Amino acid sequence: MNADPTRLLAREMAARLRTGETTARALAEAHLDAAERQNHALNAWLVIDRDGALRQADAADAVLAGARRDGPGALAALHPLLGIPVGLKDLISVEGGQCTAGSRILEGYRAPYDAHIVERLRDVGAVFLGKTNMDEFAMGSSNEYSAFGPVSNPWDLDTVPGGSSGGSAAAVAAHHVPLSLGTDTGGSIRQPASLCGIVGMKPTYGRVSRYGIVAFASSLDQIGPFARDARDAAALLHAVAGRDARDSTSAPVPVEDELLHLPESDDEAVAWLRGRRFGLPREYFVAGMDPDVERRIHESVAFLVDAGATVEDVSLPHTDYGLATYYIVAPAEASANLARYDGVRYGLSRRLEGGDFIADYLATRGEGFGAEVKRRVMLGTYALSAGYYDAFYVKAQKVRTLIKRDFDEVFASGIDALVAPTSASVAFRFGARMTDPVSMYLSDACTLPVNMAGLPGVSIPCGLSEGMPVGLQLIGPAWSELMLFRAARAFEGLTAAATWRNLEPAQLAEADDAAGPTPAERAAALAAAR
Ligand code: GLN
Repeated sequence: MNADPTRLLAREMAARLRTGETTARALAEAHLDAAERQNHALNAWLVIDRDGALRQADAADAVLAGARRDGPGALAALHPLLGIPVGLKDLISVEGGQCTAGSRILEGYRAPYDAHIVERLRDVGAVFLGKTNMDEFAMGSSNEYSAFGPVSNPWDLDTVPGGSSGGSAAAVAAHHVPLSLGTDTGGSIRQPASLCGIVGMKPTYGRVSRYGIVAFASSLDQIGPFARDARDAAALLHAVAGRDARDSTSAPVPVEDELLHLPESDDEAVAWLRGRRFGLPREYFVAGMDPDVERRIHESVAFLVDAGATVEDVSLPHTDYGLATYYIVAPAEASANLARYDGVRYGLSRRLEGGDFIADYLATRGEGFGAEVKRRVMLGTYALSAGYYDAFYVKAQKVRTLIKRDFDEVFASGIDALVAPTSASVAFRFGARMTDPVSMYLSDACTLPVNMAGLPGVSIPCGLSEGMPVGLQLIGPAWSELMLFRAARAFEGLTAAATWRNLEPAQLAEADDAAGPTPAERAAALAAAR
């Protein structure tokens, strides 16, 4: 056995906590040490809360000790996340803590209450290690739009981890935590999961309460888990999912306990595939796609077929409009959601100078928001303005219905789930897409239709391309998270012996170098060489 506890999966940690082989404090310390040691090189964390984490860990150890006294029944009844370190994207409110959403405009702001998902995780005794870096207001696909600097991908420190939940993905890939949470409005969980070689799920819209989460685009945002395998991700989803009266869009759909009992044996997991019908949407193999990524996806499909599933070519004809309509709907909603950062209610609290309210407002937003956020607010305000509302916003919502209908028809024809690339390329170098916003927007061409339709999607590792991780995306009908995790678990079973499984991220060891360049310095060096 590897003696380093950070190399364990969450459920392996849970088992060791129960036998007394380790303690929540020892787990927290090992993970905190790794995060503190490597954050100079990775910048995945905006806050590493050693004191808070150790306090929570001690509380978890007290619960474990009590259960041990009460006997095996009490131990078995403990929640699987008790004492397990978790990372939270820095747009999730934790009472009394910072919540910057990656923006200068929220610097100094303290969250007045816990988000619903934070309450849930506290109830089960998870240990919060800290807050993770992200693109400003979750707008971006590379984490380069964070006001607090870029994040390095542990597989290649000169490349991006994806975004907007880049810190959460990099932290799990780097073994700083076994689990983290992110949000996905157009791909921000699945795309960084793909680029970092881990599992990331965007659940069905309404599956997880958004109460206490900084809003980007309210009709698209969903919270979801990152983990190093399907079972760990399913356990985290199970802990946070379900109806919450404080988010009127959170649905009273039961959360299946089977999420905690995905098959342990690879054979049993793979057997589930027999007779399943998968669809391969031809529109997701976009022009300009990295041919090696495409090869990995087709190999994955062949594995599924070998295991007794059928994979059929299907068409989602309105896919092409996904990007254009997303970039009307998302900025429109963002422009409304971000109106509250006005220097009065939120944002760079400064004193009204000479009572000039407008000047103060302009200065707050002018200095507080980054360029990408301003671009979105302008796009959104334009799309919602009186003369253009029908032509742009209403039209985009109609096309959104067509996008949703494409998926409905495919699933109605008996297809269980769709198999597709998550991202058309592997992780790209810092700066590669920074000068052309549209090239950055194209990063999510394969993920954002799923948000437009409100469906669940999961990205799972399916191999490497020139040493960098490739993600396979599985998309299902609404509320089919359990089925998607069964499929993901089956794929893990199929590829359990593959050489790329359980590899350490190639350049993670280099992140130990506290004298080496930071991600921002790497990005600057690459820009200078360009
Ligand atoms: N990259 C997309 C955007 O910038 C999606 C971001 C997200 O899912 N939060 O809007």
